[in-house]
Amino acid sequence: MYTTEFEYVRAATLDEAISLLKEDKDAKLLAGGHSLLPAMKFRLARPGKLIDIGRIEDLRGIDKSKDTVSIGALTTHAMIAASDDVPTALSEAAAGVGDPQVRVRGTIGGNIAHADPGSDLPIVLVALGATVQLMGSGGKRSVAAEDFFMGLFETALSEGEVITSIEIPVSGKGSGSAYAKLANPASRYAMVGAAATLTVNNGTCDDCSVAVGGLTHMAIKAPSVAAALVGKEISDESIVEAAQAVQSDLGGDILSDIHANEEYRRAMATVIVKNALTDAAARA
Ligand SMILES: Cc1cc2nc3c(=O)[nH]c(=O)nc-3n(C[C@H](O)[C@H](O)[C@H](O)COP(=O)(O)OP(=O)(O)OC[C@H]3O[C@@H](n4cnc5c(N)ncnc54)[C@H](O)[C@@H]3O)c2cc1C
Repeated sequence: MYTTEFEYVRAATLDEAISLLKEDKDAKLLAGGHSLLPAMKFRLARPGKLIDIGRIEDLRGIDKSKDTVSIGALTTHAMIAASDDVPTALSEAAAGVGDPQVRVRGTIGGNIAHADPGSDLPIVLVALGATVQLMGSGGKRSVAAEDFFMGLFETALSEGEVITSIEIPVSGKGSGSAYAKLANPASRYAMVGAAATLTVNNGTCDDCSVAVGGLTHMAIKAPSVAAALVGKEISDESIVEAAQAVQSDLGGDILSDIHANEEYRRAMATVIVKNALTDAAARA
């Protein structure tokens, strides 16, 4: 399948990308092309111009300081999967994205801007309390991942804005994180995905954050799961009980398709949250 005709321009710097975006409302940014080009071939997107940001090296790379891990928007899934500096839940999720070709080309910025409900990284970023750094002609702003994802393929990105990086707080001693999913057997997108991060002190859960996605329109927090586990001794029983609480966080609008209907996805949410909690607790 062919795309409709479009103009192609390569931006050498972030400033150039922002001014090119500003001067043409019909233009779209091109990063790894692994969501945008398929969408164009299916005629779901028909941009008149593509602004290729793929060679802006300032937007690529992982930088860890005492408090924060900063991941440039153009950092690929393969780079994140191979990094010891990012939380385990994120490298684990990146390692399970699609196939090797998708991981080598696809970027974290493109992944979260596209906001596919089956994307893995949004789920992890919501659980980890990440913030998304944006830049446009009006200046910089920062949006909590929890507020960035607004619906099916819908984000808080305003017209003309570029995602520059994602910032993740570094967690302290005694903490562990994990990502688990029920993958679509063909694409590997999450039909149900769950990320968990928790801190354990003398066998007791001191802190916990869980997010789910794949079955909901966007990645969402699961506060009932966290509330059910905090203050409890970590055991198979307390984890199973906490995982069951995800049912009250899911809401009424669950996705359904030929691969998995609503009832199956709902049932699997408890299992996948349990798996993420179990692995995170083992790493804490
Ligand atoms: C076969 C296949 C299997 C896949 N499986 C999975 C999977 O299992 N899990 C998963 O999570 N994903 C999966 N994906 C999606 C993959 O992760 C994509 O790489 C990713 O969603 C998009 O990243 P990209 O860099 O390719 O972005 P592009 O396709 O270049 O862009 C996607 C969108 O983001 C916008 N954009 C890109 N960069 C920026 C930026 N810095 N600021 C603002 N907007 C920007 C573009 O304008 C476009 O609208 C799969 C894709 C394919 C083709």
